Amino acid sequence: MEFVFASGNKDKIKEARLLISSQVKILSLTDIFCTGDIPETSDTIEGNALQKANYVFEKYGYNCFSDDTGLEIEALNGKPGTFSARYAGNEKNTEANIQKVLFDLNEINNRKARFKTAIALIMGDEKIIFEGIVTGTILSEKRGNNGFGYDPIFVPDGYDKTFSEMSLLEKNKLSHRAKAFQKLMNYLNEHAHFASK
Ligand code: IMP
Repeated sequence: MEFVFASGNKDKIKEARLLISSQVKILSLTDIFCTGDIPETSDTIEGNALQKANYVFEKYGYNCFSDDTGLEIEALNGKPGTFSARYAGNEKNTEANIQKVLFDLNEINNRKARFKTAIALIMGDEKIIFEGIVTGTILSEKRGNNGFGYDPIFVPDGYDKTFSEMSLLEKNKLSHRAKAFQKLMNYLNEHAHFASK
């Protein structure tokens, strides 16, 4: 059984292969020779996930899933949200994005935030959205060297380490993406044999 994971992010494909059962073969966009930028123009995280999965399904004909993640900061009215990748500009510079968040939160006491992942699955005629959320707080400086994106400034609730101070295995046990992927996995375990042609 194979699905395309419609993401160009190698870290996420690596995470997904660890999270999803080895019976499910995950193809990357490179594996199917999909090289161009996939449109991501929705104003919701769910809408972006569905838009990317639709693009691959319609253009390449593979069953596929796609995720979209946003960091939603309470004191910034949910920003950066769908702008998480390009919060500080179209260069999608991680360091600049982090610095902009720290700047925007300067002297703001409410540091509550959450990561939200939506996964859109397209399998034959079915289109389903799975959601995973992890709540936490934003630090005032970076800590740790692992992970990617906003990991160095995000401490999940119930922990005293940032995602960047955790190993990938540790992060995968509790992350937003892990929760959404677990729901996807449960669903595929029950239903995917219908699509395994
Ligand atoms: P995407 O749209 O899912 O690729 O993610 C949007 C932005 O959120 C990117 O800038 C990522 O760096 C960031 N992001 C996504 N997932 C994570 C995560 O697990 N930790 C930290 N940042 C993330």
